[in-house]
Amino acid sequence: MQKHKMTSSDELLAYVEVLTRQRDSSLVRLSAMQSLLMLIRPESIRLFDVMKKGDRYSVILAAWNEGALLHFSDPLVTEDKFEQIAADSLLEKSLVKGGGYFCGIQGSGYVCCIPVLMDDEPVSVFEIQGKEPFSAEQIAMASGMVSVYRNYLGLLEDSQRDTLTGLLNRKTFDSGFSVFLTSALRSDDPQHNDRRSHKEGSHWLAVVDIDHFKRVNDTFGHLYGDEVLILMANLMRSSFRQADRLYRFGGEEFVVLMRDVDFADVKKKLDDFRGKVAQHVFPQVGQVTISIGFTSVVSTSTPAMVLGEADEALYYAKGHGRNQVRCYGELVEQKLLTEKTVHTEADFF
Ligand code: GH3
Ligand code: MG
Ligand code: MG
Repeated sequence: MQKHKMTSSDELLAYVEVLTRQRDSSLVRLSAMQSLLMLIRPESIRLFDVMKKGDRYSVILAAWNEGALLHFSDPLVTEDKFEQIAADSLLEKSLVKGGGYFCGIQGSGYVCCIPVLMDDEPVSVFEIQGKEPFSAEQIAMASGMVSVYRNYLGLLEDSQRDTLTGLLNRKTFDSGFSVFLTSALRSDDPQHNDRRSHKEGSHWLAVVDIDHFKRVNDTFGHLYGDEVLILMANLMRSSFRQADRLYRFGGEEFVVLMRDVDFADVKKKLDDFRGKVAQHVFPQVGQVTISIGFTSVVSTSTPAMVLGEADEALYYAKGHGRNQVRCYGELVEQKLLTEKTVHTEADFF
């Protein structure tokens, strides 16, 4: 850690201004990391994402520096990649403490851990490392910056969620889709990305639509209809993985993005979810069923293209008895649907 001049309030405000200018959570992270690096000038800085498994905390490295260079890992990791942290490590103590910062000696250096709390639970933690102890001024500055980061990220994330169900909203789908595609295809071999048999794709988009939902509203009223939507979202959250992206697209239509699953698994997963919904007893309303259409996502996919395909499969399911899961590629292969001409962007102008 270098001795450095006092940071002027102008400089601090400039970092806050840059951070709050971002509209994307990963850019907000980047900005927070950069600010801490410049304001504190530590030897190293690492950001971990935190998950509570039972009563222990597990973490995964989300971002780190190499000199002035920042690195980020895949934003869509599955739960099994999180590793339990050692009991009594500084990182653990800072999480257990439940807020504020936690400083101590680690190896030959000094470490300050600052957790990021959302609804009183740590969701991530910054670990700042230096050769000398951090000054009170540096710690105040770092924890202040982390608070700005947390407040702003909370606000940003709220704006990306549907107010009724808490799932991601339609507005964020296009940008979420490109993050999903970039990070999902990063680990793929290049040949994996061509349009091939529906069975070989490993990333998927599903459209879920409640059957005869209008009847629910007509029979029991809108409030019970809303209750069904909330419970449906809860069933989705408990049926899919952390790395799957769940959206409410409006009305009684939901979208699921799934990656790194093969055809048989995705089909089973969606069908299990369909079965779980059909089994569920909704208060007052009783039984509700859903129909699902899904399709594979490849590197050349656009949101409009995959949504169109999944919708066609859904439409097929609706026309053939509802309460079922249909795959677009499979329907095309079985000649039950004819493949649509793929529209390029230019076709729409
Ligand atoms: P299908 O099986 O063909 O999907 O029939 P459906 O009745 O589910 O489909 P339709 O699209 O005809 O009706 C959807 C209904 O969803 C109409 C609308 O009243 C209701 N709806 C849309 N948004 C909301 C909402 O936020 N809350 C409630 N309670 N109802 C909603
Ligand atoms: Mg419906
Ligand atoms: Mg609908």
